[in-house]
Amino acid sequence: MCINCLSSNRRNILKFGAAGLMALGLGAGGARAASEGMPTSLTPDDALAALKKGNDRFISEPQVCTDELQAIRKEVAPHQAPWATILACADSRVPPELIFGGLGLGELFVARNAGNLVDTATMGTIEYGQAVLGSPLIVVLAHTSCGAVAAACDVVLKNATYPGSIGAMINPIVPAALAVKDEAGDFVTNAAKESARRTARQISADSSLISGAQAAGKVKIVAAIYDLKSGAVTYLD
Ligand SMILES: [Zn+2]
Repeated sequence: MCINCLSSNRRNILKFGAAGLMALGLGAGGARAASEGMPTSLTPDDALAALKKGNDRFISEPQVCTDELQAIRKEVAPHQAPWATILACADSRVPPELIFGGLGLGELFVARNAGNLVDTATMGTIEYGQAVLGSPLIVVLAHTSCGAVAAACDVVLKNATYPGSIGAMINPIVPAALAVKDEAGDFVTNAAKESARRTARQISADSSLISGAQAAGKVKIVAAIYDLKSGAVTYLD
């Protein structure tokens, strides 16, 4: 039994809609919207507030609700209506569904790769999440002690090279690392933050689909960093 189940029966709460769910700090209505073949009714700010509340829940009482997994699987099988898109690192310690509060099927639209970078496949994924599925929020989620970012920092500091496709993969992080090289504090953390900020700007700059939706107030893009030790997600300027 998790905190959601203790609060009330989630399936009964679904009938009160997104506002009721938000007030109770539960899932943000993705399953309900999906079952009706509709996108989420949450605004970008609603979605961001739900992620923040979920991360608080993860830190204070990290639990995953499994009681209703089977029912929700059936509910979302015909459609999906994710209420946030997360571009996260492939790092095994940063699973978005867990760190945003134990979210279930149909809630988050997730793209992951080492270093949380945008290439053609990732950009298309993010565009699909917004333009087709109606996700109102895009989070570029960096994290502390990121191996991909550390590798880019070593390119800057030691002219390091890497085998296979790893060098080409981390190349887009190098300009961010160079930009913060002389800043006070932890180099890898500073570079991870700067790279996430740049990636968030890149999504808007390189995609007319996304920038058009931004201008219409349909989507918001934010950069954030997850602390592996504390579990906290901090949003960046
Ligand atoms: Zn990483």
